[in-house]
Amino acid sequence: MKTIGVIGGMSWESSAEYYRLLNRHAKARLGGHHNARNLMVTVDFAEVEACQRAGDWDALGVQMSNAAQQLERGGADLVILATNTMHRVHAAIEAAISVPFLHIADPTGSALRAAGVERVGLLGTRYTMEQDFYSGRLRDRYALDTLTPNEADRANVHRIIYDELCHGEIEAASRDVYRRVIDDLAARGAQAVILGCTEITLLIKPEHASLPVFDTTALHAQAAVEWAIGTDDTVR
Ligand code: GLU
Repeated sequence: MKTIGVIGGMSWESSAEYYRLLNRHAKARLGGHHNARNLMVTVDFAEVEACQRAGDWDALGVQMSNAAQQLERGGADLVILATNTMHRVHAAIEAAISVPFLHIADPTGSALRAAGVERVGLLGTRYTMEQDFYSGRLRDRYALDTLTPNEADRANVHRIIYDELCHGEIEAASRDVYRRVIDDLAARGAQAVILGCTEITLLIKPEHASLPVFDTTALHAQAAVEWAIGTDDTVR
């Protein structure tokens, strides 16, 4: 089994979920007492969040690249970045390391195509919903048409991520907001919804949504384990 390196801490609430999912999937696949061989570098989310708000993506690219290099020096055979938003700087990370990088949108894009989905709702931070780095990859590599909520709903979805989910606060009222937003995406023609922020899985489970749910946290963790045990081909 290869060793998975995780850039975590954005937020640590979702990194803890990655840790659980990586090991759970390795055990499901290999049985017995198997774990996923892995190591994690946790960055300070306060610094990251401030740079995001300032639009300083260059500084974030340097910070993420440094974390990826730490993982490579520590023996990682593969690097994954445990947040959708920070994939805005994936090119800087890929250029900084000599081991493969598994982009979070790829397992999700593959799963959506395998399910026959062509039009999909995208929930995530404002950065993920409004900039092209994420929906562009889904369009160019997987021919997926993405739909995002309206302006007011994007603001709510974003606020709930940073003010609640990243602090580990799971509120029923916020779940209702997400449910209604997903209903709206369905009414506009979405055939499925991407949980395109790694904390949304803490709030929304498949039974809460009127559309099939594609959970980037779970799909990413599973794909990393599949790669580590030698059966995945989605690493570009
Ligand atoms: N974990 C979140 C994501 O998947 C948001 C936090 C961040 O900005 O990295 O986008």
